[in-house]
Amino acid sequence: MKISKKDALMWFSFFAQLDEDEPLMPRQQELVYATLAQIETAQEARIAALRAEIPGLKSIAGRTYFVGDEEKFSRGCRSCLTGTGLSAIRKTNRCNIQCPFCYNYGELDCQPPIGEGMWEIGGTKFREEDVELLLSIQKKPTGVSYVYLEPFMEIEKYYGIIRRFHTAGVHQHMYTNGTLCTEENLRALGEAGLDELRFNLGASNCADKVIRAMEIARKYIPVIAIETPMTPSFYEQFQQKKEAILATGISFMNCAELHLNPNNIGNYWGENMYMTRHGYLSPVWSHELTCRLMKQCAEENWPIVIHDCCNMTKFARDLNVKVHEGGWFGASAYHTEFDTIPYEAFLPILQDEGFAFLVEEELPKGYRAGEIVL
Ligand code: SF4
Repeated sequence: MKISKKDALMWFSFFAQLDEDEPLMPRQQELVYATLAQIETAQEARIAALRAEIPGLKSIAGRTYFVGDEEKFSRGCRSCLTGTGLSAIRKTNRCNIQCPFCYNYGELDCQPPIGEGMWEIGGTKFREEDVELLLSIQKKPTGVSYVYLEPFMEIEKYYGIIRRFHTAGVHQHMYTNGTLCTEENLRALGEAGLDELRFNLGASNCADKVIRAMEIARKYIPVIAIETPMTPSFYEQFQQKKEAILATGISFMNCAELHLNPNNIGNYWGENMYMTRHGYLSPVWSHELTCRLMKQCAEENWPIVIHDCCNMTKFARDLNVKVHEGGWFGASAYHTEFDTIPYEAFLPILQDEGFAFLVEEELPKGYRAGEIVL
């Protein structure tokens, strides 16, 4: 069913008024999925056109795209996409700032603690000294990553565990907003054996202090990278400070397609949204900005790799995770973050005259306005 934008708008306006717990009937669900498919297909065509303009676009096993020297492609990302997965380690449940795009926006003060002296690895609690036991029983991962909130809130607690994984030869990467970095803690991290530090540069709006921290980190840690959700404000700030950022010696930039959940969607209300494979919900501009940056990187020969960490990359990543977990054919950890589809979020794109569906058809009988659609 190639529903027209006009019919889609009419139906979504109606669905948006229903009570959240009022379930849709099968034909109504078909109308919803037909609309999501029309938006997603049109968005994919826009991305295909932008990608066609990127010189030297490369792929990793058909799962993701990047530009630049493949030697510089992050080992952390390779592990996540083709190895044993992201292998997340959680510790710190606090952050010193509050980003509008944070998945925990509005709940940053009440994230569950991991526990005194504990680390959460693969959902299980460990003490630092248990790492050897874990590695002696389970297969060594291709990489581990320190995720959750801001590790530099208590960075001194990380050195010991990093040392243990380093001794075991496991590649380790960490994410930070960079605002609490100092020469001293960056040196200590490097000495402990951290392989890769990724700065969420969008979190500080490309603050000079953080750009300076990236430069210092480069002295002590082998790979310094940027990993940030692509937003218009980051894109603008990056352009203004491009020379200084590229001069820090970073080797890699992971452009994450911003995806929204019930916590942060309110900060992007009114933007044009689409959904990828009934999973991640994103403003359309996020992936488009990545493509524009990749084109610029390739044309201006920046000395870095830019990786397009878009929703489809996450889709591939989550299929890969399940393979390594011994999941059945087709099993994936990829899923939507919403209990019900937020119909209202799609009204702006359906009202936008600048966003066209590729092909439109009249609704089949039994699905039209005025007919009882169950
Ligand atoms: S720096 Fe990271 S954890 Fe902190 S608010 Fe921003 S996105 Fe969330």
